Amino acid sequence: MSDTKPTILVTGGAGYIGSHAVLSLQKAGYNVIVYDNLSYGHPEIVKDVLGVELIVGDTNDRSMLDKVFSTRNIAAVMHFAAFIAVGESVKEPAIYYQNNVVGTLTLLEAMMAANINKFVFSSTCAIYGTPQEIPMTENHPNNPLSPYASSKYMVEKILKDFDRAYGLKSVVFRYFNASGADPSGNLGEDHTPETHLIPLALLTALKKRDHLFIFGTDYETPDGTAIRDYIHVNDLASAHVLGLNYLLEGGDSEMFNLGNGNGFSVREVIEMTKNVTGIDFLVKESDRRPGDVPILVGSSEKAQSILGWKPEYFELRTIVEHAWQWHKKRHDNS
Ligand code: UDP
Repeated sequence: MSDTKPTILVTGGAGYIGSHAVLSLQKAGYNVIVYDNLSYGHPEIVKDVLGVELIVGDTNDRSMLDKVFSTRNIAAVMHFAAFIAVGESVKEPAIYYQNNVVGTLTLLEAMMAANINKFVFSSTCAIYGTPQEIPMTENHPNNPLSPYASSKYMVEKILKDFDRAYGLKSVVFRYFNASGADPSGNLGEDHTPETHLIPLALLTALKKRDHLFIFGTDYETPDGTAIRDYIHVNDLASAHVLGLNYLLEGGDSEMFNLGNGNGFSVREVIEMTKNVTGIDFLVKESDRRPGDVPILVGSSEKAQSILGWKPEYFELRTIVEHAWQWHKKRHDNS
């Protein structure tokens, strides 16, 4: 009996955004195989929570990729596997270019050799650099300011060239601030080390940390703290499924911003965290974090009009509530 549901290879499916995308793909009826080197991912999430096959492999391992592509009937690849820490990328650019650019190139070459020509790619709003207009659209000039952002930008360039030369069709998503967690509380954000505001605020509420720093209180914003566009990870995931459907239906290569369209300041996030958790915690004011810009808010009108995407969880309260459910479950007893 032939299986009619296409199989999608999800690299980085053991990570934060990748694991939520796997869940959305499953709900949409796709078969999923996760390919992850487990440098940061969580194998128990893939096996026990998602219940899909996990292949432990690196995107730089061409022979492993060839083996996977020659033994499975894979219709498309969703590529999340990447190093993501901006600060670390400044100190260690070589590993960022090796993993994020060379690894992706190796993956794409293996795909081309196996005649797989549909690709969904995680990019970032960091490729725009300092905003010249808010909200930022896909037409904003590109000016990646860190090796991390450059690595994503270089892959976007490679994808354009591969389309022209080899007919690779790709959907690129440029994320704003991925946040929140699946409402089930079974999936969520768990980075080591953690650098993101919402999980750090929740860990402080859980007394896993003594205090939370506000990085910069002298920005030209209404309350002096930086403003970001927090987008619920399930809304990111649903966009990936729509992007995949679009490619499988014969869509041309496209790139899309994925943001919520609303900006929230660091102080607003902290207040919301205290409100949602009902726990007061110590907040200290500190200097600006190098490389941070005052405001990042994206326009996702293009994804809405071309893919029919609509963010479902756009309220900051919902985002923090879902993240809280996950963190409580993950950390309460540890
Ligand atoms: N931030 C903060 N304290 C922290 C972590 C982050 O004040 O402990 C601020 C950070 O400077 C930025 C915003 O929160 O203005 C969001 O930071 P995050 O690292 O979550 O995402 P980024 O915007 O860097 O991708």
